[in-house]
Amino acid sequence: MQLTRLDEVWSAITFFYISPLRSNLHTSHIKMTFNASDLEFCDEILGKVSRSFAAVIRQLPPTLLVDVLVFYLVLRALDTIEDDMTAFASNDEKVQHLRNFHETALKDSNWCLDGVGEGDERRLLQQFRRCHSIYAALSPDAKNIIADITKRMAEGMAEFVDKDMGQGTVDMQEYGRYCHFVAGLVGEGLSRLFSASKLEHASLANELQLSDNMGKFLQKTNIIRDYLEDYEDGRAYWPQTVWKKYSKGDLGYFKQQRLAPNKAASLHCLNELVTDALELVPDCLKYLSSLQCREVFRFCAIPQVMAIATLEKCYNNPDVFTGVVKIRKGLTCKLINQATELEGVHEIFYGFALSIARKSDPIDRSYERTLAICTKIVGLTKPSCSGISLQRYLWSAASVGAVAAAAMFSPQGKKMIITLGTLFPILLTRNMFIVAKGSLLKSADEILNN
Ligand code: MG
Repeated sequence: MQLTRLDEVWSAITFFYISPLRSNLHTSHIKMTFNASDLEFCDEILGKVSRSFAAVIRQLPPTLLVDVLVFYLVLRALDTIEDDMTAFASNDEKVQHLRNFHETALKDSNWCLDGVGEGDERRLLQQFRRCHSIYAALSPDAKNIIADITKRMAEGMAEFVDKDMGQGTVDMQEYGRYCHFVAGLVGEGLSRLFSASKLEHASLANELQLSDNMGKFLQKTNIIRDYLEDYEDGRAYWPQTVWKKYSKGDLGYFKQQRLAPNKAASLHCLNELVTDALELVPDCLKYLSSLQCREVFRFCAIPQVMAIATLEKCYNNPDVFTGVVKIRKGLTCKLINQATELEGVHEIFYGFALSIARKSDPIDRSYERTLAICTKIVGLTKPSCSGISLQRYLWSAASVGAVAAAAMFSPQGKKMIITLGTLFPILLTRNMFIVAKGSLLKSADEILNN
């Protein structure tokens, strides 16, 4: 199946062999600042608890990488406490742990917690002192930012501990509030870390609405995609004021996909939530367009393009109610490769917004709203004559050449050359009409040496 998508195969080759994300973890700046064995522990845990985020964190500039790595692990530890439904004797005990976390875990260098969470997350809490050792060696600015966000997120989580989430959040306001606490605040914290590192303008730290909506966009996408898993865990987030318009029973009504009325109603509900999430896109694009550092841009843009791809896949898709909707690996590689420049990101959002608009149907109750936001996104991302950079074009050409040369020496050389012969004109025509335009992003070195 996957082999029929030449573009994606090509992207996978580029991603794995030609320009993989390079790790900056072993640079001298980092080696001199942090305890090597504790850092190795943090990096190892990061790779285990989040494969997708690990690579984008590791490619960050050395002066920012460890801040973000520790920020991620601290919040992950907090989330492990939030998610554990059996370890604590009472909700009050859990709330105590959450509320004290910034005072205990972040101030006491020997703090640890046993028997909470599972697998590598449990290990992170058990050996938290190794994470603390790295945290303690960060700059005072970075520590303050991480402690502030951790404290506020924990307060927010504590607010939800006592709530019965079996039937989702109460309304759009509560849904938004939850997303703000667990994801919007991450956006704020990251922006402040970017500014503190001087890789981004100081003003970015104050763009609170934009950073909040960036985080919410990712969180709402996950909540939409994870309907079934969350519902079965008894911790659902779909807002009641939305789903009650469509359900003739409880939130589990949408699971019964064999009944025609349920099927239609569930899709209308799903599409309303996808539309609501899409309405955050203009702010996400505005945020991305304000970045100047190439590595920071990539770090922010990759999760965003994955989210829009996931929303497009979820839109009007009954599979959301019966299993897990995932985007193809080849498509993931393609998106990651393309998310290096604003133009590439625009191209992606443009394509997916158009695709959702094409799938929308006048019988859908959110049809007009969906069409309105898709039209807006298309307008914001329409390809201008500047499209893709010359650099990317030359990369494609040089890479095709290199692979073709390698193919001549392999036993299946002929076949490969035929494939590439088909592939090359596709790439060429796609990139040919584009006027060369230099990148607007700068490398970390260029920014810091100025
Ligand atoms: Mg959680």
